[in-house]
Amino acid sequence: MSYDVKGIREKFPILSRKIDGKPLIYLDNTATSQTPQSVVDAIVSGYCDTKANVHRGVHTLSQEATELQEESRRRVRDYLGASSVEEIIFTRGTTESINLVASSFGSLFPQDGEIILTVMEHHANIVPWQLLQSRRPDLKIRVVDINDRGELLLDQYRSLFNEHTCMASFCHVSNVLGTVNPVKEMIDYAHSKGVPVLVDGAQAVPHIHVNVAELDCDFYAFSLHKMYGPTGIGVLYGKKEHLLRMPPYQGGGEMIAHVSFEGTTFADLPFKFEAGTPDFVGIGALPKALDFINEIGIENIEEHEQELMEYAEAKMREIPGMRIFGNAPHKSAVISFLVGDIHHYDMGMLLDKLGVEVRTGHHCAQPLMQRLGISGTVRASFAAYNTKDEVDAFIAALHRILPILS
Ligand code: PLP
Repeated sequence: MSYDVKGIREKFPILSRKIDGKPLIYLDNTATSQTPQSVVDAIVSGYCDTKANVHRGVHTLSQEATELQEESRRRVRDYLGASSVEEIIFTRGTTESINLVASSFGSLFPQDGEIILTVMEHHANIVPWQLLQSRRPDLKIRVVDINDRGELLLDQYRSLFNEHTCMASFCHVSNVLGTVNPVKEMIDYAHSKGVPVLVDGAQAVPHIHVNVAELDCDFYAFSLHKMYGPTGIGVLYGKKEHLLRMPPYQGGGEMIAHVSFEGTTFADLPFKFEAGTPDFVGIGALPKALDFINEIGIENIEEHEQELMEYAEAKMREIPGMRIFGNAPHKSAVISFLVGDIHHYDMGMLLDKLGVEVRTGHHCAQPLMQRLGISGTVRASFAAYNTKDEVDAFIAALHRILPILS
């Protein structure tokens, strides 16, 4: 069956809008993807038909809302290949998922423990560990470097492990370089040293097949808004053996078994980590995002995005002064670039005038920018609904703006 990009685009109302009278060409999918009507309809239904707080009522609405939320948890479990709903925790996003692990699992780290990160991490996988370190100054953070293509130095990664190493945490796919890291190999190595691993999957789940059982990772974090789902919802997958040992991350309603001023006992998994009212409307709508991906097939989405990226990169390389950051053979649908000494911000501003929405700046990866010796890039990134015509329009827009800026 051929890839029906026209049919896919029709599911996204926003794709027919104009920017300054020009057709919208949305190439900022790494920051957030657009949302199909089916997800929007499910959110509307969550407000119009079933809104009641979850897990709190005996009444019909509350039971329906609770069932929607728990069905979503089962869907995420199945999508990820996790073994139990107890291992699926709803959070506000990748950021909160990683903060949860750093704060809670991190509180169990031994004296003088060492955490291995990589230089290509998003701030969301750096700062939570630094916050932990500010409370536990005995902890050390060690950082894996990259080569010129933007691949992790695996020999260096292996050499950083020692008897103090208590955690490794790295992205599955870089949000700047697009590099798809060999996470299975990295996890296996960490496990051979008895070290648990968190994988930041924010840029992987929307683009490639992910199965936590196959990966055997200890934790896996991602955000729904980057994968055609509602905003403000993330997932933390965690192995039950770890989650059982971990103290709660936040306290409040929902996460308790019994509260008294003499002492409080906590709810079972996964609720122990879900204090307060969640975005149950958004969570209830997320299966529609998974349906959208499943109907096309994640492998087909990946193939389509790869074609777009390769097509775009080939045309971009013809532009004098073009520098593309991230040239790993195994790369996801992200192109970060600069042209000559033109400022990324100026390129982004002018591209916007032509309807092309790209991201500019450090992409929440300042240590990586420092490593690359630049202050930022322009970043074009693709999703299931982008087309070759859009790539042509983007390239044409570059050809129009570069003489102005040079
Ligand atoms: N990790 C990576 C690799 C990302 O690309 C992002 C967002 O761009 C995040 C973490 C943070 O995601 P969120 O803002 O949804 O929590």
